[in-house]
Parts: sequence; structure tokens; C-alpha cells
Amino acid sequence: MSNPLQTKFQIVTSTLLPHKCWACGSEADGTKEFIDFGVSIDYEGAIYICLNCSTEIAHTIGFITSFERDEALLELEKISSELSEAKDNVRAFTDLFVSLNMPIPDDSNTSPLDLGVLEVHERREHTTSEPSDGPFK
Ligand SMILES: [Zn+2]
Repeated sequence: MSNPLQTKFQIVTSTLLPHKCWACGSEADGTKEFIDFGVSIDYEGAIYICLNCSTEIAHTIGFITSFERDEALLELEKISSELSEAKDNVRAFTDLFVSLNMPIPDDSNTSPLDLGVLEVHERREHTTSEPSDGPFK
């Protein structure tokens, strides 16, 4: 695997002595990937950091893994869908207010149920089912 940023750090599976992660000591097996720092220390050998430790380092400075990114994108997609559904509901309630000839509330925290829409609806049914006696009896 090559590093797309072409930095001095390379991902390798083939290592030099001491063939292990400098941070945790996990040993190379020819398939495990390490970050090669391109640096050797006298009497210690080449400096490698395994991908587990590299991920931990990246987390420490605020980066996320591709798995976490994918999970966040899925969550974003879900929230976007919920937002779209909520906008559809607002449009439906706005249409309802217009059809009932009611002022459209400008407080986004107010539920149409709190405004007595159902109560108004019941009153309308009441007035249509029982004829009014009018102001004069
Ligand atoms: Zn390690």
C-alpha cells in the first residue's frame, strides 16, 4: 500500500531489524502493516509503528478512522432523511393552517397540537352538525 500523500512515512509489511512496533512491541510477520519512519537508531534498529498504534496516535490528535467516517456518513444520511421528512410535515401543517384559515405560527418550537388545531377542528364539526339558532331566538 502506498501513501497517497507521498510523505516520508511509508506503509510497509517488510521490515528491518528489530521487526517490531516501536510503541507496543508487536512483531512483524510479513503481512502485518507498519508505518516506516525511514529512521534507524544506533543499536536499536529501524523505527516502525504498527497500524494499531498509528490509529491510536491519529485519534489522539483528533483524526477518525475510515470506519468512523463511514458510520458518520450513514448517520448524516439518516439525519438528512429525517430532516426531509420533518420539512414535509411542516409543509403539511402549513397547508392545514392555510386550509383552516389560521395564522401560521412563527415559533418553530410550537406544535400544531399545542395550538388547538384539533379542538378547532372539533368545533367546526360541531357547528356543521348542529345548526345554529342564530343571535335571535
Ligand atoms: Zn504498535
